[in-house]
Amino acid sequence: MNAPVTPDVLTLPRKLPDNGRVNIVGLTRDQLREALVAAGTPEKQAKMRVGQVWQWVYHWGVRDFARMSNLAKDYRALLAERFEIVLPEIVTRQISADGTRKYLVRIAGGHEVETVYIPEEGRGTLCVSSQVGCTLTCSFCHTGTQKLVRNLTAGEIVGQLMLARDDLGEWPVPGAPKDETRLVSNIVLMGMGEPLYNFDAVRDAMKVCMDNEGLSLSRRRITLSTSGVVPEIARTAEEIGCQLAVSFHATTDEVRNVLVPINKRWNIATLLDALRDYPRLSNSERITFEYVMLAGVNDSDADAHRLVKLIEGIPAKINLIPFNEWPGAPYKRSSNNRIHAFADIIYHAGYASPIRTPRGEDIMAACGQLKSATERGRKSRAEIAAEAAG
Ligand code: SAH
Ligand code: SF4
Repeated sequence: MNAPVTPDVLTLPRKLPDNGRVNIVGLTRDQLREALVAAGTPEKQAKMRVGQVWQWVYHWGVRDFARMSNLAKDYRALLAERFEIVLPEIVTRQISADGTRKYLVRIAGGHEVETVYIPEEGRGTLCVSSQVGCTLTCSFCHTGTQKLVRNLTAGEIVGQLMLARDDLGEWPVPGAPKDETRLVSNIVLMGMGEPLYNFDAVRDAMKVCMDNEGLSLSRRRITLSTSGVVPEIARTAEEIGCQLAVSFHATTDEVRNVLVPINKRWNIATLLDALRDYPRLSNSERITFEYVMLAGVNDSDADAHRLVKLIEGIPAKINLIPFNEWPGAPYKRSSNNRIHAFADIIYHAGYASPIRTPRGEDIMAACGQLKSATERGRKSRAEIAAEAAG
């Protein structure tokens, strides 16, 4: 492991006190249209104004109405009076030795979530949070030790992408040649929270991110990870159409009940039925089965054989995640030999089985290590241990 890097504190302006203005960030096109009309934009012009404002905010990254030079001066003034363009605030930014950036982000009410940027060769992935804490209590997950505080709004979800682009300096410069390699080219909804328990906000936020005249991320570059909220899976296909990842993690209901307790509500068979329909409903590619490798718990050869049998017939790839430890965690990471033996079985059954390299471990930015240190109401070690024991 690399030595920890001291947080580099950014001083950005604090959000203004509530001033009755509508924040544009996170509104869908329809919502923006409605808001512009309510503010006095003539119906007949509304569609065009939505297009103009949209481009300024999401294509050019402009935050100041005065800079929207294709709008009349008095219309800019009207917008400034009734609207604002506000992102959540970056409180700290830590940069790992491997280049991973972890942002501690403050949202309205003083709550905090984490967003992680993972640079890779020719691309970069932003891991976005959807809730402060989580109602679910997966026994291996740090976020699961923190009670749910609240859902993020669509604006707070889109805002995470925008603030990462601010920090990386990734907004287009007028007149400059178009750069085809994007720093943030992919989004994974794998930060804090269960995205399918905040469906509407996540859907609206992803619609904004996918819009071609703005942030313009293709639905194929967005992956939503769920612990298995079965009733929302078909909706995800129909209303978002992004790639799906599922936190599978076990091959028997007995073990999955302990690791991913939502399994007691929707068991493995029910989950697999919903997954079978997903590619057709969403016209998307393979489903990613995430599988955290926990020593002596779910990592035997028998587990690997059961896993390939269970997912037979589903276009899939299996992402093996070496367990990332956190203080007080009740599990240990499987050995490298064990992980490779497990991966071999899956590979020989015909599945891609990449082993996820932990990124940003030195700054606790790796999968499942996120948790806002500031939130009260976290669970005790005894509670975690009791849950882990089932
Ligand atoms: N709530 C969603 C998305 C957030 S978790 C879900 O559960 O899918 C993103 C991924 O990290 C999930 O697959 C989760 O199971 C995994 N994860 C959680 N804690 C982990 C840990 N300590 N080490 C490795 N992976 C972990
Ligand atoms: Fe919540 Fe996902 Fe963590 Fe489970 S793994 S506690 S669903 S964030």
